[in-house]
Amino acid sequence: MKLEIMNVSKSYGNRHALQNIDMEILPGIVGLLGENGAGKSTLMKILSTILNPTNGRVLLNGVDIKKSPNMMRNILGYLPQNFGVYPNLNAVEFLLYIAAIKGLDRKTAKRRVGQLLELVNLTEAKKSAAGSYSGGMRQRLGIAQALLNDPKIIIVDEPTVGLDPVERIRFRHLLSDLSGERIVILSTHIVSDVEAAAGKIAVMSKGRLLSYTKPEELLTAVNNCVWERIVREEELQKLRKQFIVCNTVRTGDGINVRFIAKDLSERNANLVVPTLEDAYLYLISKSGKSDE
Ligand code: ADP
Repeated sequence: MKLEIMNVSKSYGNRHALQNIDMEILPGIVGLLGENGAGKSTLMKILSTILNPTNGRVLLNGVDIKKSPNMMRNILGYLPQNFGVYPNLNAVEFLLYIAAIKGLDRKTAKRRVGQLLELVNLTEAKKSAAGSYSGGMRQRLGIAQALLNDPKIIIVDEPTVGLDPVERIRFRHLLSDLSGERIVILSTHIVSDVEAAAGKIAVMSKGRLLSYTKPEELLTAVNNCVWERIVREEELQKLRKQFIVCNTVRTGDGINVRFIAKDLSERNANLVVPTLEDAYLYLISKSGKSDE
C-alpha cells in the first residue's frame, strides 16, 4: 500500500494553507508535527477526501483519490480534531449507530463493537453515557468509531489535545499497536507525541513541508550544536538575540540556558545531546528567518 502526495497546494481564498507538499507514505506511523495553522488539518482533510486540493494530486496505490474517493473512504478510519460524542448515548449505542451509518450489518456490527471496546479498553464503561467520559475515554471511543470498518489507513487529527500525560501515553501505545500493515497518520504540535512511535516525522510550518524523515535523521540537523550554559539575566537577553534558545531553567547559580549554535567561539558552554524538540525548534526557527 502506498499513498503519494504530489505537489499538493490548498488555498482558502487568498490564504495559502498548503504549498507544494510532496510526500510518499508507506505502512507505519507518520507524525505530522507543526504549530497551529501549519496546515496539518487541511492536509488530513484532503487525504480523507473531505477537501479537494487546489493543485496537485493524491494517489492511493497509483489511483487519484479525487477521481475515486470511495476507494479511499472504504479503507479509511478518520478521527477529526473536534470529535463530538452524543452525550446521552453510551459507548455501545454510539458505536452501533456509527456502524449503521457505515453500512455494517447488525450481526457484524455487534461483534465488531465488542472487539473494539476491548481494544480501546472501554468495556467496563460501555454502559455509561459518553457525556460522563474523561477526555482520554472520549478519544478512545473516537478511535473505536474510526476502526469500525477495519481501515487500512487511519488518520487522527491532534488526538492528544486535552489528554493528561497518562492518557497521552496510553493513546500512543494504542496507535502503535494498530500500525503494523496499516498507514497511521497522526498530527500534533507536541514533539513527544511522535518521537517514540513515529517511523517518519513530517515537520510543517506555514503550509510548507520543512522536513520529512526518520526521527534519527531529523536529529542530525542539530548534531554538535546544542549547548547549555549558566548565565545571568542580562546575558540571557544577549543569547536570545544571537542564538535559538530552546529552554531556560532557573537554578540557584543563575539561569541554565539550552541553546542552538552552529559555530560557538567562546567555550564556557557544555555541548549536550540533542533532542527532537531541539531539532524541531531549529527547523521552525530557520524557516521563520528565511521568510523575513
Ligand atoms: P493546523 O491543523 O496545522 O492548525 P489548518 O490546516 O487548520 O492548520 O490551517 C492552515 C491555515 O489555513 C491556517 O492559516 C488557517 O487559518 C487556514 N484555514 C483553515 N481552514 C480554513 C477555512 N475553512 N477557511 C479559511 N481559512 C482556513
